[in-house]
Amino acid sequence: MAIERTLSIIKPDATRRNLTGKINALFEGAGLRIVAQKRIRMTSEVAGKFYDVHRERSFFSSLCDFMCSGPVVVQVLEGENAIAHNREVMGATNPANAAPGTVRREFAESIEANSVHGSDSPENAAREIGFFFSEMEIVG
Ligand code: ATP
Ligand code: MG
Repeated sequence: MAIERTLSIIKPDATRRNLTGKINALFEGAGLRIVAQKRIRMTSEVAGKFYDVHRERSFFSSLCDFMCSGPVVVQVLEGENAIAHNREVMGATNPANAAPGTVRREFAESIEANSVHGSDSPENAAREIGFFFSEMEIVG
């Protein structure tokens, strides 16, 4: 299996409840390395650009408002098969369907306020990492 990098975001519902460390512990416990990390507040312009693929979906504007409602922690996770592996660690989009021990099952509040984002393909991981980080900020 190849070493990959994936873009992760700890969402405002989780930063509000001071869960950054607990979520990072689940990532690290699962063998994912945090090779870049910063805490930012998204503007609606940034959120709209980041979620452009979801522009036509019914939840788009609500999702953008939510992502701007408080600080987020954007991070690059690195490890074997990191893109798919991180999505397993995150659990299903809807926390009601997420497996026990996953981030969303443990911490998410709702299908929207679901605590974390993770890239879903190598192409999206590359785009999303480049959206938030320069090469100099990623230290493996
Ligand atoms: P993410 O892209 O955040 O890793 P995902 O890939 O599991 O999550 P997507 O289908 O890409 O889910 O949806 C992006 C985000 O939009 C979800 O994480 C969630 O915050 C929100 N979302 C998805 N479906 C709904 C819905 N039916 N109602 C409200 N918000 C939703
Ligand atoms: Mg997605």
